[in-house]
This record gives sequence, C-alpha cells and structure tokens, in this order.
Amino acid sequence: MDAVKYSIVVPVFNEELVVEESYKRLKAVMDTTGESYELLFVNDGSRDKTEELVSAICEKDKNVKLLSFSRNFGHQNAITAGMDNASGQAIVVIDADLQDPPEVILEMIQKWKEGYDVVYGKRVKRKGESFFKRITAKLFYRILRSMTSVEIPVDTGDFRLIDRKVCDVMCSFTEQNRYVRGLVSWVGFRQTAVEFVREERFAGETKYPLKKMLKFAMDGITTFSYKPLKISTYLGFLTAGLSFLYLIVVLILKLFTDVTVSGWASILSVSLIFNGVVLIMLGIIGEYIGRIYDESKNRPLYVIAERKGFDDGQEDKQVR
Ligand code: UDP
Ligand code: MG
Repeated sequence: MDAVKYSIVVPVFNEELVVEESYKRLKAVMDTTGESYELLFVNDGSRDKTEELVSAICEKDKNVKLLSFSRNFGHQNAITAGMDNASGQAIVVIDADLQDPPEVILEMIQKWKEGYDVVYGKRVKRKGESFFKRITAKLFYRILRSMTSVEIPVDTGDFRLIDRKVCDVMCSFTEQNRYVRGLVSWVGFRQTAVEFVREERFAGETKYPLKKMLKFAMDGITTFSYKPLKISTYLGFLTAGLSFLYLIVVLILKLFTDVTVSGWASILSVSLIFNGVVLIMLGIIGEYIGRIYDESKNRPLYVIAERKGFDDGQEDKQVR
C-alpha cells in the first residue's frame, strides 16, 4: 500500500447532494498541509447517485478512494471499514455533510504533531439541529457517562483524528454492534480535544432517523455498561424491602385495630405496575442476550462490493 501521511475516512449514505461539495472542501484543506493524503469515501449502500459521483471523482483525483458496501450496514460499520482500509499514519473520521468543518482537521493535525494519539472534536455548540435532537443527544452522553467506567468524553461524535497505532488496535476488534467513539476511548493512549461549532447540514436530511438513533444509543450503553442489569437487582431489593414493611403495617392494623384494608383496585394497579417493570427488565436482559447472540454468530461487520482507487491489488470482493 502507498505510504500516505493522512487518511480521511468519509462515510456516505445517500449523500448525492453533498459529496461533491464535501470533496472540494476536504481537498482544499488537505492540499494546504503540503503532505500526502487519501480521501477514503465509504459508500454505505446508498440508493441514490452517491456511488457514481464519488466514482467520477475517483477517476479524476488519484488521492480519492472508494469502498462500496453491498448494502446499508450502518454508519459505525462504514467507519470501521474506512479504518480497516486506511493506510495513513494519522486517520481522520469525518461526516460527509460538512457538519464537522474540514478546517478543524488542521488543528487536529497540529495536536497530533505535538504528540497526541487521539484528537477528538468536541461540539461546543450545535447549529441547525432540532431541539429534540440537541436535548436527547445531551442527555444521552450524560447518561452514558454516569453508567460506564470508561472515560467517554461528552458531546463528542466520531469526528476525530487517531494515530496509526490506535487504528491498528481498533482493527483487531471483532466486536459486533460497535460504538466506535467509545472503543477509541477504551483504547487509551494520549487523548485530547479540539473544540468546534457543529454547523448546519450542507444539504439533504439527516440519515439518522429516531429508530437508528435508538439502536445507536442502546449499542453505546450495552457495550460499555452492565448498569441496566444491576438496576433490576436494586429494584428487586427495594420493592421486596418496602413490601415487607407494608406487610408489617397490615399485620399491625389487622391485629390491633378494627381497620380493614380493602380494595381490589389497589391490588390490581400494584400488580400491573410490577408486571410492567418485570417485562421491561426482561426486555433489558433480552437486549444483552441478543447482542451475545450476534457475537456468537461472528458474521462479518460489512461486505464490500467494490473497491476503487486502491493500488494494493485487492480490487475484488472483501469481507471482514
Ligand atoms: N451515514 C452512513 N450510514 C448510515 C447513516 C449515516 O454512512 O446508515 C453517514 C452519513 O452519510 C453522514 C454520517 O454518517 O456522513 C452522519 O450522518 P448524519 O449527518 O445523517 O447524522 P447526524 O449528523 O444527523 O447525526
Ligand atoms: Mg450530520
């Protein structure tokens, strides 16, 4: 493989409205470094013109490479494929929609040259995103932090620079249902942040509908914490304790007073509430079991249908 200095990994899914602009901005920024680089677009099974557009850019610019999945495997797997196929000494992951300003890459490179192995972009402000998205994102990062012992920085996306040695460690993970930003924190080494303002999407719509966001949040929590499982134990002790106290109260009332405790409505509501709680807890256990099942099947994380612009002679189909 060509020894390039920087690899810029750009996952794209139905981004026909933004890829060209994003290529221009990235090229402009990377050209100012005066060092060698590759722009590695990972097409995550787009159903629009994204693949053709990137393909055309590939033909014109030898710094551009394209990996195309056989279908949509998800953002986190696209990033993983990018890292697996990157050949640079420093690898930068960036969204295609220009919400992460490419100019910030230069600051990241600066920090890397100072000796940091991971430089992540911290969002100090988010522009042009709905109130719902901002508040849920904020809450999620904080809940996750309170649940895990791994120091995962809050308000930080996948926009970051990682050193070759961090990338090599990440490439050795076979973990399914990945939460890449957490894994990078888990690896350790010298990490630092650069702050940036998250811009509005250049064009098009978010490719993270609520359903994908929920899956992503569940992956983040389940891969980095057992706390949801512990909660059921705590809840069990708490209700058992409280019920015991209540039993004593009922006995005292029965033995020493004329008051009789009545009402099937109260019995029914308590029983329904606890049935609900038990089902929720079963669901949580199910989330973990489902993920264990995924791990045991050990299927590849993605299937590559096409590689373009690579000069390593492996242009045919690849899986990992
Ligand atoms: N993306 C992807 N696969 C998906 C969903 C998204 O590769 O299944 C890419 C998308 O093209 C973009 C990045 O992941 O480059 C972030 O997605 P998006 O901007 O839609 O997310 P948001 O910024 O709204 O959270
Ligand atoms: Mg975006």
